[in-house]
Amino acid sequence: MLKIAVLYPELLGTYGDGGNALVLAARARRRGFDVEIIETSLEDEIPDAQILLLGGGEDGPQRQATYGLAKKNALAKRVDDGAVLLAVCAGFQLIGSSYEVEGGIQVDGLGIIEAVTTRGTKRRVGDLLTRVGSQWMVGFENHGGETELGLHEVPLGIMEVGAGNGRVGDHSQAVDGVRRGSIFGTYAHGPVLAQNPWLADELLSLALERELEPLQTIADALHRSRLRAVGDIQGEIS
Ligand code: GLN
Repeated sequence: MLKIAVLYPELLGTYGDGGNALVLAARARRRGFDVEIIETSLEDEIPDAQILLLGGGEDGPQRQATYGLAKKNALAKRVDDGAVLLAVCAGFQLIGSSYEVEGGIQVDGLGIIEAVTTRGTKRRVGDLLTRVGSQWMVGFENHGGETELGLHEVPLGIMEVGAGNGRVGDHSQAVDGVRRGSIFGTYAHGPVLAQNPWLADELLSLALERELEPLQTIADALHRSRLRAVGDIQGEIS
């Protein structure tokens, strides 16, 4: 049974990121896997799931979620044990070392990855397009934070459109998110997996520890149409 946990959707569900669980479940079920989606709230233990999802949220709920997760201290362990983690926006910021919320307050993150988020000079709102290896990731960003990755961390991708982590640190070009093993962080909402079926399959493949048979769905057409709309890079896709 593939278990997918949506962590604190009541706090980190402002941007429809819970849809990432639905996409993963649908793509796994179509290939014959049994799937359970578990929604976890602040009072609950972190479930023993193969995929853990953190979404985006406003500063207040983001802090509440961070304190809840820090108290339980179980997320890092689950990830160490090999669970796949997708952390979007506020979720990405809170798995880092620290982040700054409105009013200049620094909040300790969970320290699962090395990343410091500070307030940018302006809020970044709009479409986002990121080169991730040989793939394009489309999404939508809405955040006030800019994130500097630690020296040993690798970004998820390179920005083509949008700000992503922002131009901070040593990266001459803007980057988005973080990728370390089974940890994926990004500023892309969407929900990002609905717009990027290839990314959903990468997560599934890691969690199920096997290669997956290809799956053609309407999501491929959505992905192509978002690529055309956001990046006007029709020539680059087949
Ligand atoms: N509160 C954070 C920020 O504004 C995260 C926002 C979000 O999750 N969309 O940077």
